[in-house]
Amino acid sequence: MKRILIAQTPEHIGETVEVEGWIQTVRKHGKIAFFDMYDKTGLLQVVVVTPERLQECQALEQRTAVKVVGLVKKRGEKYVNPNIVTGTIELEATEKIEIIASSQILPFDMGGKDLNLELPTLLDYRPLTLKHEKVRDIFVIQAALAKEFRKAAEELGCTEIFVPTIAAGATEGGAEVFKIEYFNHEAFLTQSPQLYKQVMVGVFERVYTIAKAYRSEPSVTTRHLTEATQMDIEIGFIEKFEDLLDALEYVGTSMIKRVTDAHEHILKEFTVEKPLIPTKIPRLTLREAQEIITKRTGKDLSNEPDLNPEDEKEICFWAKETQNSDFVTITHFPTKKRAFYTMPDPQNPEYSLSYDLLFRGIEILSGSQRVHNYEQLVDAMKKKNVNPESFAMYLMAFKYGMPPEGGFSFGLERLTMKVLELANIREASLFPRDMERIDERLSTLSHADKKNS
Ligand code: ATP
Ligand code: MG
Repeated sequence: MKRILIAQTPEHIGETVEVEGWIQTVRKHGKIAFFDMYDKTGLLQVVVVTPERLQECQALEQRTAVKVVGLVKKRGEKYVNPNIVTGTIELEATEKIEIIASSQILPFDMGGKDLNLELPTLLDYRPLTLKHEKVRDIFVIQAALAKEFRKAAEELGCTEIFVPTIAAGATEGGAEVFKIEYFNHEAFLTQSPQLYKQVMVGVFERVYTIAKAYRSEPSVTTRHLTEATQMDIEIGFIEKFEDLLDALEYVGTSMIKRVTDAHEHILKEFTVEKPLIPTKIPRLTLREAQEIITKRTGKDLSNEPDLNPEDEKEICFWAKETQNSDFVTITHFPTKKRAFYTMPDPQNPEYSLSYDLLFRGIEILSGSQRVHNYEQLVDAMKKKNVNPESFAMYLMAFKYGMPPEGGFSFGLERLTMKVLELANIREASLFPRDMERIDERLSTLSHADKKNS
């Protein structure tokens, strides 16, 4: 007999079918037993009444992988469950319940709607906790965000590229870079795909990539990982700065709208609202945003070169209350605070043609128009104490006809976190890396290392 997927079972009422999946919960009541099983397409209630099958049921534990052959039956009117794809039917295990792979007794109960575990435990048991429906759904959203990002990038006419993460120089400079030993040379893990995507504008005009980025973030926060996933776009032959703002707002809002429209049930499960997306995203310069915050809070921000986390929250409250928007674009950050490749505003070079997109109180994207003129770029590097010799390969691209260009970068885990309003970015990473953990807690790893030596 050939396996069918659980979501297909309602099409087979009155027929004997074979399904495979994992046990979610088992309820044994003497002469009758029920279990819920699931595969990648959904959840199915199985009822067991015959003595042989009840016998086979005894060995079933949560997360046991099983094959069941039985009869698809319509449920009585009052047992219909509109929340699952198989809510109108149940499977009576008439022929067979076969264990495909047994499961050890779980260290905690995984049968409930919520997995009420502290974060460290949630991460210590990651291969197991990822199986819980609500945890799994976080990564359904993540996959959908990446897919819609790709779709929007393709709509903008971008070509997908794959870039290295081992580099000879540090991308953004600064202290937050991981050094690696590379055959007796010093090398670095890239802090972003920035330099390579810019080079590739000289080849394809418009490019996008989904790439890992490494930041040796020295502090433990709820919004930083040491290994994050960035979704980047870079666009050449722009006419004006606003072309870039239009592009980033298009990609950001269409991606989030499509994902949240398609997965309303997951938003409900997490009790989060659909995002507010006005037809025009509010745009403010950093200084305008700071003035608004000052008016609302009385805080003097006139000397602040950036928005700190409380400011980001406050300006998002403003956008929500007065503009009916969960998004706000902030532009014109001080040139000296942004990376060397950022184009200063020709009207006022103290500020730059840069931007952040904020969503629900937090930065989810940064970017800028870039310096595309070779001499100007070398000058900009020197001003920031970046040695042009270390970036010879990157600079070469600017010697041979680099058009006006710019781009932006979304953090995939940040986006996932905010779409579902998760408390900590670690919940939005399958296997999060931070100062304290590479899968296992580093404190326990170093303990084991010591024991081995
Ligand atoms: P922040 O100011 O929030 O620390 P950043 O300005 O250093 O972030 P960018 O270099 O602008 O980060 O990176 C682009 C995007 O990548 C950010 O807007 C964010 O969504 C994401 N991102 C950056 N650093 C991290 C990190 N350490 N962990 C997770 N996501 C990150
Ligand atoms: Mg940024």
